[in-house]
Amino acid sequence: MRQLPAVNRFLDDPRIATFEGIVGREHVKRSIAQTLEDARRAPVNGGYSFEALSASIIDRLQAGAFESLVSVINATGILLHTNLGRAPLAAAALAAIDRIGASYSNVEYDLERGERGSRYGRAVSLLTSLTGAQSALVVNNCAAAVLLVLDTFAKGRDVIVARSQLIEIGGGFRLPDVLERSGARLVEIGATNKVYIEDYERALSAHTALLMRAHPSNYAITGFTHEPEPEELAELGRRTGVPVLEDLGSGAFCDLAQYGLAHERTVQEAIAGGIDLVTFSGDKLLGGPQAGIIAGSAPLIARMRANPLLRALRVDKLTLAALTETLRIWAAPERRNEIPLYAMLSVTIEALRARASAYVKAIGGAEICETTSYAGGGSLPQSALPSIGIALQPPGGATVAAAALRKNDRPVIARIEDGRLILDLRTIAPAEDRVAVAALKAL
Ligand SMILES: *Cc1c(COP(=O)(O)O)cnc(C)c1O
Repeated sequence: MRQLPAVNRFLDDPRIATFEGIVGREHVKRSIAQTLEDARRAPVNGGYSFEALSASIIDRLQAGAFESLVSVINATGILLHTNLGRAPLAAAALAAIDRIGASYSNVEYDLERGERGSRYGRAVSLLTSLTGAQSALVVNNCAAAVLLVLDTFAKGRDVIVARSQLIEIGGGFRLPDVLERSGARLVEIGATNKVYIEDYERALSAHTALLMRAHPSNYAITGFTHEPEPEELAELGRRTGVPVLEDLGSGAFCDLAQYGLAHERTVQEAIAGGIDLVTFSGDKLLGGPQAGIIAGSAPLIARMRANPLLRALRVDKLTLAALTETLRIWAAPERRNEIPLYAMLSVTIEALRARASAYVKAIGGAEICETTSYAGGGSLPQSALPSIGIALQPPGGATVAAAALRKNDRPVIARIEDGRLILDLRTIAPAEDRVAVAALKAL
């Protein structure tokens, strides 16, 4: 049995050394040692080839790298891609995570009085001033927000929902199941395509806890349709003393028409329209960290604050730090583009085209193409945004090429269309261009 090569020889191989930056030097050393140990146990005839051993070390490292969270380049053109972590955070939010995570903080401590304070205070005062709501609450995500509302008000009672709004979104959030889980009884009204205010009115009874409206986040019913205006529902709730819950999901804070998207009902509009409680995500159109926000009537929010379930749904200090900083940006409209989502939404076609020609110049065989970005993340399912991409027709086929890009040190997630590999430049940050170009060149 010939001698196995020394660990250092592998560490000097640049293809292996590159993993040190991703998984750390110790992990790389361990992977080399494990591969050599396996080789020792199962010797091959004719000795060991450095090349073959390197290849299996790289395989092992790649598998390991995918087991940890890695930063990827989103070339799909879907701005809020749930599988890719939804909204990237603003620099100010990241700095706050850094600051608060590295030391002790006053997360639940009142510095004025030197005693226990409120965990939610800072985020809540920003939320109320930004949305016009009397009060607000922050929990783990929008699913938790809906669950907390239902658990607080509707256990063993009725919740009236239009049949056309019984949504299922990704990751197991299915409104009828969430309702059942919370112990509420679903009262389904209307037809698939049409529901009238009279349907809600007829379904009301002494058992009704809530009138509920849910945003059809990932589908649209078109054609011969009807739904009452949200204000009609709010009015019915007011008249009958039944609180109205609106699950907005994406939680737009501004008019998206200014970005060339369809107008999305905003949180402010829902509150101003008299909805008692609205729920939305922190990491969709708000552009912040994963969180669920409940905004609305102060007495109703106070009841939720007293619900022991809140303790199990509470957010950590890092989320609160990032959310608060993101809300501060919203409070200063001139800072909007500090939120990466809005920087991506407001980039011009000309700017995208200029970057695309730099890509094409650097890579042989690529061409500029017109493509379409989508907001994604359970918002504006129909709303498309014209964009510019790079199209390639790799000799080995687009599927193989897409898989190779996913194996890049910094994985690149591209799209396949009509057998071509498409990289939408809108969701690639300009600072990522160099790495993306290098990955395409290697391809
Ligand atoms: C996205 C969405 C949710 C779930 O939000 P998470 O923050 O992912 O829990 C709930 N309802 C609607 C309408 C949504 O769009």
